[in-house]
Amino acid sequence: MICNNCGTANNEDAKFCKNCGNNLAQGETTQPEQTTQQAQQTQTQTQTQLEQHIQYVTPEKMPRVENYLVFSILVTLLCCLPLGIAAIIKSSQVDKELAIGNYEGALAASKQAKTFNLIGVISGGVFVLIWVVVTFILPLLLAFGL
Ligand SMILES: [Zn+2]
Repeated sequence: MICNNCGTANNEDAKFCKNCGNNLAQGETTQPEQTTQQAQQTQTQTQTQLEQHIQYVTPEKMPRVENYLVFSILVTLLCCLPLGIAAIIKSSQVDKELAIGNYEGALAASKQAKTFNLIGVISGGVFVLIWVVVTFILPLLLAFGL
């Protein structure tokens, strides 16, 4: 058998060329081409898969949704505990909804957190105003008989 790579005559039953080690059974000249084609195909496939993967893992950029968390904590500490806790729950819900990609839900929770905080600030302000009137202004008015 003549090796088609180097032209050396080998035994008929030889599987490999004794001169260059070429695989006589398959014929070396056509095989590398196939391998190269296959490799290119595989590379193209991998690229396509990679592109799909990138598209999949990069979601549409969502606008930031305000969670009012600091505001909610301040309302809890400075004003009214139950209202503040409700606001904190809504604030943390904003991030949870964003994490699962529910933009509408995040917006709704953000709105509710804002509402709770506004109620907290307004009622807190009214409470402070009444407290100031009762403990400072009213006694002074009474004491001086104005
Ligand atoms: Zn050979």
